[in-house]
Amino acid sequence: MIMNCEQYTGKCVCGREHTLETRKVVVAEKALEHFEEYMQELGLTGRRTVVYDEITWKLTEGKHVKADQNIVLDPHGLRAEDVLIEKMMKDLDKPEVIVAVGAGTIMDFGRYPAFKLGIPFVAIPTLASSDGFTANICSAIMNGQKKSTPMCAPALVVADLDIISGAPMRLVASGINDILAKYTSLADWRISHLVDGEYYCPMVADLAEHALKLMRGAADKYAATGIVDHEAMTMAQMESGLTMQLMDNSRAASGAEHLMAHLVEMKPPRFENAEGIHGECVGVGTFQCIREYHKLAGMKPKAKPFKPLTEAWVVEKFGERLAPGILKENENDVLATFDPQNIVDHWSEIKAMLDALPSVEEMEKLYSACGCKYLPEHIGIDPALADEMLDISAAIRNRLTLVRMKRVLDFE
Ligand SMILES: [Zn+2]
Ligand SMILES: [Zn+2]
Repeated sequence: MIMNCEQYTGKCVCGREHTLETRKVVVAEKALEHFEEYMQELGLTGRRTVVYDEITWKLTEGKHVKADQNIVLDPHGLRAEDVLIEKMMKDLDKPEVIVAVGAGTIMDFGRYPAFKLGIPFVAIPTLASSDGFTANICSAIMNGQKKSTPMCAPALVVADLDIISGAPMRLVASGINDILAKYTSLADWRISHLVDGEYYCPMVADLAEHALKLMRGAADKYAATGIVDHEAMTMAQMESGLTMQLMDNSRAASGAEHLMAHLVEMKPPRFENAEGIHGECVGVGTFQCIREYHKLAGMKPKAKPFKPLTEAWVVEKFGERLAPGILKENENDVLATFDPQNIVDHWSEIKAMLDALPSVEEMEKLYSACGCKYLPEHIGIDPALADEMLDISAAIRNRLTLVRMKRVLDFE
């Protein structure tokens, strides 16, 4: 599969003008054999530094792309952190383009210097279990803090399936989870658009939906036959990442379900033993959301006035250490920006969206057949917390989701 990205840029039906730094995405067998052609085509010429770590250097042996300079990093203790990346930057030999060969960490070792130097960056993923490759976000630790920083996206992504197909099954399953999350992230976005008039782009939503369909098709095939369609799965990740670039935020790709991953990272009281890679935590969030959303679809909401989260609640759920950050995040609660009655007035449309979600049984069957994590106990969370964990995680980010909307609704 080859995707030329211009089709998504320019004036859009949503009224905005979308831009993309990523111009071409290639996901194919032996894709690296044509690497120079793609570089030429996009005018990515000039002095080239290629960054690997020792593992990805070995993994791609016999397939190394041409370079004016190769940097092979020691993987021991290697983490994406500004000080480490800047240390590497001292060794750069005046590159005009940087190519990064690896997964998330190495990508940031390409993305960050390219951004600082104002030169293009090219990604050769060796794994495709996340949608970060085509996003314009850097997840390196900055000033000692782990957070997502807006940054550049690769001009070109070349995913060689001969390399990517070596990915361990745990990562494949986690990648499936991360894209199936779009069932609920898209529902959250569409509902928020309905009730709060939040900006919505049908073209971006379609692209996210397409990523979801690609992944769902591949997951069904994997569940039935055990065959992993790396091409479809990888492209689904790439498309999901592009939605973030087109929007300049993760709205299309990340809803209430994604906050589970943040919850696991933050480890508030009672969640101290929670542990899992990104997609695994998201899978648990998605399954719980789908369960909750079907339950809500069967009930009738009544609007109730907005009340800010109380300090007592936040301290009880998040502990003294995390409470100040959570309170700050919720200072300007998005729930206060619209009339809760809007939700009630649009309930039949919302109910139709919720009814259209796959059933709990369908998801359960699919997740277990694909070896995906989807229950709290799969990621070290006490199942007794299942009913509470969505409400707690909804406080982590001031973004409108149906889970958050429950605070201004009574259900009967
Ligand atoms: Zn648009
Ligand atoms: Zn994700």
